[in-house]
Amino acid sequence: MDASERYEQLIAFLSTHLPAPVEQEDHNGLLTLTGGSPGEVIARLTHTSVIIEEYAVRWETPFKPVVHPRRVGAVNWRRLPESALMTVVGHLIKGAREMRLARYRECRFCGRTNPPEWQHGDDTCQSCAAHELGELLRSLRDQGRTLLLATHDEDFANTFATRVLRLSDGHLS
Ligand SMILES: [Zn+2]
Repeated sequence: MDASERYEQLIAFLSTHLPAPVEQEDHNGLLTLTGGSPGEVIARLTHTSVIIEEYAVRWETPFKPVVHPRRVGAVNWRRLPESALMTVVGHLIKGAREMRLARYRECRFCGRTNPPEWQHGDDTCQSCAAHELGELLRSLRDQGRTLLLATHDEDFANTFATRVLRLSDGHLS
């Protein structure tokens, strides 16, 4: 079997062994396959290596999640015989997936299990955290207190505020 056949075979292996659904992207000869939704495992394939990563997200701003994967292992796929290669890659995928799923936590309010990027603290998801905060603000308001809150979250403001002022390009409206 020549290198291009082995390359195709490796793509087929990754497509069936990564958690579903698998998304495939091609950037200048670097093939990236992301398995799972939300993502769990990333496989990057070059002309010599296959790199397996644990999917991870960092919030660069409160509105901009950026994928920052953690590398689990890399294998030179040209150097290993076929069966050894598939075994090693299969183990790396399994390990990366276990690491990712071990970071998921159950929300104590809604009971849903969330990846770390959707958690607020250890045991609350972000939507329940926003809801709980809203309920707290509402109860303070009902006690007759005046609260001034600044937020970028318009849905949140529209749900819980009695009056919304918008600051845009230095103008208050
Ligand atoms: Zn929740």
